[in-house]
Amino acid sequence: MNEEMRRYFTPPDLKAAKKRGKEKISVLEFDPIPDEMKEIGNGRKYLIKTYGCQMNVHDSETIAGILEQMGYGPAESEEESDLILINTCAIRENAEDKVFGEIGRLKTLKTEKPELVLGMCGCMSQEESVVNRILQKHQHVDLIFGTHNIHRLPHLLKEALMSKEMVVEVWSKEGDIVENLPKVREDGLKAWVNIMYGCDKFCTYCIVPYTRGKERSRRPEDVLNEVRQLARKGYREVTLLGQNVNAYGKDFTDRNYRFGDLMDDIRKIGIPRVRFTTSHPRDFDDHLIEVLAKRGNLVEHIHLPAQSGNNEILKIMARKYTRERFLELVDKIKKAIPDVVLTTDIIVGYPGETEEQFEDTLSLMREVEFDSAFTFIYSPREGTPAARMKDDVPHEVKKERLHRLNRLQDEISRKKNEALRGQVVEVLVEGESKKDPDILSGRTRTNKVVNFRGPKHLIGEFAHVRITEPRTWTLNGEWVEEADLRQVGG
Ligand code: SF4
Repeated sequence: MNEEMRRYFTPPDLKAAKKRGKEKISVLEFDPIPDEMKEIGNGRKYLIKTYGCQMNVHDSETIAGILEQMGYGPAESEEESDLILINTCAIRENAEDKVFGEIGRLKTLKTEKPELVLGMCGCMSQEESVVNRILQKHQHVDLIFGTHNIHRLPHLLKEALMSKEMVVEVWSKEGDIVENLPKVREDGLKAWVNIMYGCDKFCTYCIVPYTRGKERSRRPEDVLNEVRQLARKGYREVTLLGQNVNAYGKDFTDRNYRFGDLMDDIRKIGIPRVRFTTSHPRDFDDHLIEVLAKRGNLVEHIHLPAQSGNNEILKIMARKYTRERFLELVDKIKKAIPDVVLTTDIIVGYPGETEEQFEDTLSLMREVEFDSAFTFIYSPREGTPAARMKDDVPHEVKKERLHRLNRLQDEISRKKNEALRGQVVEVLVEGESKKDPDILSGRTRTNKVVNFRGPKHLIGEFAHVRITEPRTWTLNGEWVEEADLRQVGG
């Protein structure tokens, strides 16, 4: 390997990624694309395949923004692509398996079309074991970069196009913030806005603190400007993104400004709906609840991952709250926002979970009555503390617990949705239903999917819909025209 190549061979290091130092977080500005790189993509097409969470979806929008500034255009298919990037997720084993399947499958295309650049980025790139496996078994991959150096893409891509070796550049540092990154937003109605990056919680099952670096918040003025710009462009909804949005501002050394303050300022911007994801119950403070209770554009939906209802399991998960503290928080939220919709994440079959401990989770679900839940069987992630824990719960038992949990949640979801029968709800109409183009589909402020028959000009607008047929996961209804609505409202 020559000197030049060595510069582009920086593999990941999970041990280094775990360190949390006192170094000041740098806010960097994205450098304009150098002239010699602006035409690299002329006549070439790109395809990004995105796995995982909204953070990844939004990163893909940034990657698309950079590529389009380099002259690339979007491709409709793999066959017409000159560049395929797989933006990966490391949160669960099956997501990783799918990515390796995809990389293996693309070997045929790469053989037929050797000038195709095949790259991988996202959370899996930050893992040593993944990069080693690709180096050993998937030499047809041309480029690997991580979550901290997306802004370096023009340089890395140029190198990948020129070099015969695989270009690997993954930074295991705690992370900086890069502002002014270009973005191609996929949707003209709803936009994602990062407010912070990384996570310092180190839940024992989770790989994110290793792949996304330490908690670092964007300056409020940068976030507010971005939201104002989106409002001016006519976006109807923004979702503020962070692995743990409730920790927003904890890292500021020059001001005392937290997530509640940010929400209070965003409330004053003329964008109709504002959501956020994801919350950590531990950092959810009273000021935030007070601000959310003011409503306006702040919607009455909170995703609050509980993960378990048992104190011993919560302790070994290192969630840093108890069942009692979680229920207290839920109680406070419900008192302040009586019609709030709460949703959650639950992991079943954590190493050593007993039947009694699992039943505590069921009873928590009954007590809180979440409107819906993302439920998972625990999946070990190499490099995390939980992966080293003794796990004597047979897989069949875990599957059976998941089944019981889902049955209970379905019952609760059905009951919650049934309560909406006959009510008129505000729906942001997103488009035609996937199953039937004669039906329109959209979401309520509480993020529930509503399907109804209505004129196409409603797409992109707010419509009022009377719920006539509540189901477990969706609501069917009928459009209420403005004149009828006035009568309904009196
Ligand atoms: S709060 Fe826990 S689960 Fe969420 S990203 Fe951080 S470590 Fe992972």
